[in-house]
Amino acid sequence: MSLPTSLESNTLASIDPATGEVVGTVPVTPVSAIPGVVARARAAQSAWAALGAQGRVEVLRPVGPALLAAAEELGRLISREMGKPAREGTGEAKDCGGGWAAELEEIAAALADEVVEDAGTRTLQCHDPLGVCAAITPWNFPLEMAHWMILPALVAGNTVVFKPSEETPLTGQAYADLLNAVLPPDVLQVIHGDETQGKALVAADVELIAFTGSRAAGRQILAEASRDLKRVILELGGKDPMIVLDDAALEPAARFAARNSFRNCGQVCVSTERIYVDRAVVGRFLELLAVETAKMTVGNGLEARTVVGPMVAPWQRDHVLQQIDAAVAAGAKVYSGGTGHHGNFVMPTILTDVTRDMAIVAEETFGPVAVVIPVDGDDDAVRQANDTPYGLGAVVFGQDEARAARVARRLTAGMIGINRGVGGASGTPWVGARQSGYGYHKGPSGHRQFTQVRLISTRKS
Ligand code: NAD
Repeated sequence: MSLPTSLESNTLASIDPATGEVVGTVPVTPVSAIPGVVARARAAQSAWAALGAQGRVEVLRPVGPALLAAAEELGRLISREMGKPAREGTGEAKDCGGGWAAELEEIAAALADEVVEDAGTRTLQCHDPLGVCAAITPWNFPLEMAHWMILPALVAGNTVVFKPSEETPLTGQAYADLLNAVLPPDVLQVIHGDETQGKALVAADVELIAFTGSRAAGRQILAEASRDLKRVILELGGKDPMIVLDDAALEPAARFAARNSFRNCGQVCVSTERIYVDRAVVGRFLELLAVETAKMTVGNGLEARTVVGPMVAPWQRDHVLQQIDAAVAAGAKVYSGGTGHHGNFVMPTILTDVTRDMAIVAEETFGPVAVVIPVDGDDDAVRQANDTPYGLGAVVFGQDEARAARVARRLTAGMIGINRGVGGASGTPWVGARQSGYGYHKGPSGHRQFTQVRLISTRKS
């Protein structure tokens, strides 16, 4: 990505992608200051850990209601920083704030000591803090992605150095400010900047790097972390398939496809990007998808009627338009939408006649584009859906749920929805398979990744 030019002057400007206006600025953290930030986090860690999980939960408890009270304001800020409809930004804040108390309890329960015994040994299995955690986040869910890693890291007794995306620094700062209203000094610190600051944080004296972002950056982080065998949790990109079986209810399938391909302007890690439709129903499905897509009003996210806002920034818009242009030059057909754009606003686009060697089929697009590919039966659908190094989410639509479940079981994604989206029941993790994830967040098993397991064993008398 190209740097916002203001980074050169030690100030990072957040730009509204709908208007080009400056939403606000933050100071860029000099790289030379980052070791000192991490040292302060280390110095603060033992006192924070000494409070115990329940003590930390009590400190953090008031933040949930404060986040809820600020939800509308945060929703507008998110919309202005990265373009999504303000009501979706508000929803993001409400999800985090509304679930706060239950999440605190879930994390504390996941960290509780366990006693494990066999005939001769009694073992206390503890989940201790790791030390200092780096939290590095993307811009597409600027509050929720931070929340998913920072809250369990803190409850586990770690201190955190947080680098929000350079596209959404104000939202990241606002989330940290709410926490810092109750936290002791240096337990959560924010550094601002782009990948330069991210790389410096990864190289600093931290025990764990929690990262959500692109596969390319994830690879670099894993390579750098390997030098000191630092722990990593990497939630990475995807190229999610949707399979429409020949018995699928086509209207709900088309409604889902339009919503899941184009919401947040397609800038969702589990956006539906490839749609494999049984050849027997592909014509009708395309007609219905085009009807649903036409209902999606494109506009400024602050306007109530807007369903699809602008893309986050010109560099991301150009990446998407180039993928479309290259596909069309190689024979793809634009069924609706296309590369006409106004500023950062890109029309939701459906492409057909694509082939697996096109970037639009093989690589993450992260924009409002869906490709529709006819398939010959369930085996062909599974084969093509799995033809990717990614493995975040996948969706299967079919009225015979037993058959759809058999198809789902053969997919190589981490999260698979049948006749619905990918997210699992509460308490389950958000998990990517293959090159979409390395470690994962949420649920008891996700929370425990912010801890060091230690065993204290005694002989049983
Ligand atoms: P990105 O990888 O460009 O940047 C993410 C963050 O990492 C930013 O804060 C950035 O400054 C920093 N960064 C970039 N390179 C770095 C490096 N080498 N070392 C350390 N830090 C570095 O991603 P983005 O454009 O902000 O976000 C979009 C990507 O995030 C998409 O690929 C999307 O699929 C993915 N994503 C995944 C999930 C998930 O749950 N799997 C959720 C949201 C977004």
